[in-house]
Amino acid sequence: MRFLYRLVLIVVLMIIISYVTIHEYNDDSEVVKPEEVVFAPSALNRLDDVARTCDVTSPIKWRERRLPGQHRLGIVVPYKNRMKELQTFVPHMEKFLKAQGVDHEYFITNQLDDWRFNRGSLLNIGAIMSGAFDCDYIALHDVDLLPNQIELNYRFPEKGPYHVAAPGLHPKYKFSKFLGGILIMSKANYMQINGFSNKFWGWGKEDDEFRRRILLQDLQIYRPPQLKSGQKSTFIHIHGEERERDTKRTGGQRKIFDTTDVTNGYNTTTWDDACINQITIANRQVNMVEVNLMCDKKETPWCEPGLPEDPLTPEELAKQAKQEAKKRKRRP
Ligand code: UDP
Ligand code: MN
Repeated sequence: MRFLYRLVLIVVLMIIISYVTIHEYNDDSEVVKPEEVVFAPSALNRLDDVARTCDVTSPIKWRERRLPGQHRLGIVVPYKNRMKELQTFVPHMEKFLKAQGVDHEYFITNQLDDWRFNRGSLLNIGAIMSGAFDCDYIALHDVDLLPNQIELNYRFPEKGPYHVAAPGLHPKYKFSKFLGGILIMSKANYMQINGFSNKFWGWGKEDDEFRRRILLQDLQIYRPPQLKSGQKSTFIHIHGEERERDTKRTGGQRKIFDTTDVTNGYNTTTWDDACINQITIANRQVNMVEVNLMCDKKETPWCEPGLPEDPLTPEELAKQAKQEAKKRKRRP
């Protein structure tokens, strides 16, 4: 009798285990709903578009839900025309994160439209999508910056936002307020600060605004210790010379550089259409979030590519002259 009881128990256990394994990647069941976000009315209709497949003949492979106490990282990469870098990025990250035992999912947010590059909006959209895969924290990650020291911690940032690509470790940027490159934070913190502003088009300044949002919420930014590997080999920056930065200042965009407008952000992000295309790179499933952004040309005329460069204001001219004088002093 006891033997029979044990046999039944073992069979039941085996059924449960095989069910759980088979359902690790399931086709159509249970979409984990994007978190309860109160979206602005203008963005409300966009909620229907969240986490939809681009190709109706191939349904999205969702992830299993996290178990209590577990964490899952969404690697959110703002992206346009960087396939060569992405092919290097994914296998590198696979190896790196395996060593840390980090459960993760990729969201490569691919800007398809012809407006100027909008890093902030792409990160907001990737963050929204990561909710549908039950990620509770995200890495805002450049595609061309590869972590190269095991001390760089990609586990859940318990204390608060963790700036992995700290000044002094990032191969290029060392000014103390720098917050770009790679930043890891909980979804809760990301929503608390209302994500990124959607108003920045073209290269730069959106991360400075993001930093002010964090500070406004009294969150402290943590960073790795200054490693011996320093700026030289803490990261590998696979930024090819042909990859030019869109640093032109046009359409009056400078006027928002020093402002902080938290009414614009995660909850007001809009797009014309967005869908998920699941591709495989180095045997790993990667979510390409294909997106056409929307630009309100009355609000941000500088989204338009190819506008003539704005003249410098008198203050900027003075600042520039000062910087050049400083440079001349340093290198006579
Ligand atoms: N990026 C992109 N396509 C572009 C411009 C930028 O995919 O045309 C993404 C890419 O992930 C890149 C990140 O935005 O790593 C930051 O841009 P970039 O490398 O030019 O900035 P850097 O930090 O090197 O000044
Ligand atoms: Mn770069």
